[in-house]
Amino acid sequence: MMHHDHHSPPAPTRLCAAYAPMLALLRTGLPDRAADETMRAHVEGCDWCRATLATFDIVDDALKRHYGRPFVR
Ligand SMILES: [Zn+2]
Repeated sequence: MMHHDHHSPPAPTRLCAAYAPMLALLRTGLPDRAADETMRAHVEGCDWCRATLATFDIVDDALKRHYGRPFVR
């Protein structure tokens, strides 16, 4: 369907592609404080990164339900 409206998913930018592999780390915090803050500033203003992070949360919840406990130590 070629149907574009304001509900179409946000598109990732090149910066998003660079950050994508590190998005999961962001929830616990990046080891480098400056990198952490730079990335957080981007993600807060970026629909694609926030949407991607949200899908991680869904997977996390599924794992928690499956294993009965948080998937982190
Ligand atoms: Zn982004």
